[in-house]
Amino acid sequence: MPLTLNDFERDALAVLETYCTIPCQSPAYDPDWASNGHLEAATELLADFARLREFEAADVTIHRLEGRTPVLCVTVEATTDTEEEDDDRGTVILYGHLDKQPPLLPWSEGLDPYTPVRRGNRLFARGVADDGYSTFAALLAIEALEREGIPHPRCVVLIEASEESGSPDLEAYLDYLRPKLGPVELMICLDSGALTYDRLWVTTSLRGVISLNVKVSVLERGVHSGLASGVAVSSFRVLRQLLDRIEDPETGDILVPELSCEIPDHVRVAADAVATELGDIAAADLPAVPGLRFLGDSPADRILRRTWRPTLSIVGIDGIPSPDNAGNVLRPFTTATLSMRLPPLVDATAALDAVKRVLTTDVPHGAQVEIFHDGAADGWASPALQSWLVDAIEAASTNAFGRSAGFTGEGGTIPFLASLGKRYPGVQFVATGVLGPDSNAHGIDEMLDLPTCVGVTNAVMTILEGFTKRNDS
Ligand SMILES: [Zn+2]
Repeated sequence: MPLTLNDFERDALAVLETYCTIPCQSPAYDPDWASNGHLEAATELLADFARLREFEAADVTIHRLEGRTPVLCVTVEATTDTEEEDDDRGTVILYGHLDKQPPLLPWSEGLDPYTPVRRGNRLFARGVADDGYSTFAALLAIEALEREGIPHPRCVVLIEASEESGSPDLEAYLDYLRPKLGPVELMICLDSGALTYDRLWVTTSLRGVISLNVKVSVLERGVHSGLASGVAVSSFRVLRQLLDRIEDPETGDILVPELSCEIPDHVRVAADAVATELGDIAAADLPAVPGLRFLGDSPADRILRRTWRPTLSIVGIDGIPSPDNAGNVLRPFTTATLSMRLPPLVDATAALDAVKRVLTTDVPHGAQVEIFHDGAADGWASPALQSWLVDAIEAASTNAFGRSAGFTGEGGTIPFLASLGKRYPGVQFVATGVLGPDSNAHGIDEMLDLPTCVGVTNAVMTILEGFTKRNDS
């Protein structure tokens, strides 16, 4: 029996809503996270929810490595038909995260990042869909299997708290938890996207990301622009020249070769198929101003641009006053925060090194360049799915949503998948999620579509069931 929205409302909604009230921002946005205690409070809340689940044999532990954000681990031992032995059956990891993006105020009328509001079957709050729902979906799926008497494999629900900062704590925990995780064979990641809410969407690739601050200095302090301009160069102009080395200012094409990779043929075919069925899906959800012309020459091209091409975004700037305080001065420096998405197969560390080299070599006019707060996370492309998993995904989507599963690349980054793929070669992946149209992860008015949340939970049940049966056929 699949779970219904009623079941979810009865068993999970109140705790999910409490989670929505906690301002548990990721450490990058809350440097005092340890003393503020919000991440800890959210972890405790979710651990309490886990302890209330009715499992035959489970362990709920919050791990706290020194100086790192906590990780919640819920290990649910396998249940089997009596005649089977279960030792060699492998572990399934169900992954999600509980840290949140910053609130990004103001939200629309009547909505607030930390006050959950339900409108119809949609729940609005920061972190509700990215990725608060994941703990509930994972635990309710396993619990429902036990309630129905359907055997499930050994499951470790692993919920981390630094994902939105690029998962800086994850590698240490994967080292530490290695014995506990055991022989990992399948990884279900519940932090990904969906193009529509009418089926299970499985993510076939993710982009990587690099970020860095670049500071261009030209003077020791600001000087009257009547004296200095025309003699000393503007730091903004030097920055502009440096950025033009990275991207073509007309087209936005990235010019550093280390940041591109060949797009596989099957990816192009899949993009064509999605565009044929769903139209201009990459552009359709964007809140564009009237008259904005989108990049790319076709809907399929825009899908590829979003999932397999590198891009540059300037996401922060410093050294420039707001227009209200702007005086006639030649400013001493300009700092920009660069965020670059990378194609799935690009080595993020090599890409970061290349960008740093480009920004610091032969700087125009001998201006000083400093680079700081840099970081890199690899993208990921799914290994080929084993046939049992293809069948399980299809059954999962059909049972939960009444139609076939969809497969697509995503433009975001989940560092966990690349790390896990490297640590456990041969592991199979299902990356999925609820981040569909209007879910607004990272933006204002973040929203969880509750029926989709229940659908994904039911899909997880079917996939776990398929895992247990995979050697039977
Ligand atoms: Zn997320």
